[in-house]
Amino acid sequence: MRVDIITIFPGLFPGPLGESIVGRAADRGLLDLQVHDLRDFAAPPHRQVDDEPFGGGGGMVLKPEPIFAAVEAVRAELDAAAVAAGPVILLSPQGERLQQQRAERLAALPQMTLLCGRYEGIDERVREQLVDFELSIGDYVLSGGELPAMVVVEVLTRLQPGALGDAQAAGRDSFSEGLLDYPQYTRPAEFRGQPAPEVLRSGNHEAIAAWRRRQALLATARKRPDLLAQRTLSEQERDWLNEASGSERTAPASNARDRSHTATAAGRRPTSEE
Ligand code: SAM
Repeated sequence: MRVDIITIFPGLFPGPLGESIVGRAADRGLLDLQVHDLRDFAAPPHRQVDDEPFGGGGGMVLKPEPIFAAVEAVRAELDAAAVAAGPVILLSPQGERLQQQRAERLAALPQMTLLCGRYEGIDERVREQLVDFELSIGDYVLSGGELPAMVVVEVLTRLQPGALGDAQAAGRDSFSEGLLDYPQYTRPAEFRGQPAPEVLRSGNHEAIAAWRRRQALLATARKRPDLLAQRTLSEQERDWLNEASGSERTAPASNARDRSHTATAAGRRPTSEE
């Protein structure tokens, strides 16, 4: 996958993208990250990339001409390298919020161009004429699109075949099957009086798999009930949720720590009256 990033702060890259899984994926040719300095496409001598907004109001806006020139230069490079040009994506708090299913579809593309905004944002004509869609990493406002671009690249790189040491790992992560991940434990078997669940140390793979499926379901019910609302539950899953809410109703009120590991079918923590 090739990702072209257009930014006024190219020095921020590769940053965290040069390390760990993404860094290794780039070394192995699974990710081709190309960072373009927007100022290289602005007119000399000042190479100005921003200007005051029409209508006043303060702040600065990224000008359209350098962005168009940068995207056109990327397209010419892609043509020359015989890489099929993918979408031009604007990182924007106003965009569609990035979710795992969307990431899975984007990860299959051979190329995409990520446009990092700054200041008050970009001239609207860029969005209308050049941008295929906007992506947000959450409902909050950052100062620039560079961190969101890094988030997008990291998410998509994890999904490239061969990027993770364990080929199945991405498929077990939270959201990949509409559930959160199950709880993880490692050595020591007992820590500060709390043992890791016996079943995980039993060597019984079938029992371990069932425990994990149940725990993933209960964690989702407790932390993200909205995800369960979008899922068709199997009979087994419904039984697990009913069992969990039943055991919460009978749990002693002082056992709050244990109860946080189980879930009500509605995904809320029980009140002290329960
Ligand atoms: N005035 C803009 C608005 O309210 O929609 C926000 C501009 S923000 C200060 C500057 C740039 O940061 C944006 O153009 C965008 O590229 C990036 N950005 C900020 N928050 C973001 C988010 N949650 N997701 C993706 N990009 C974001």
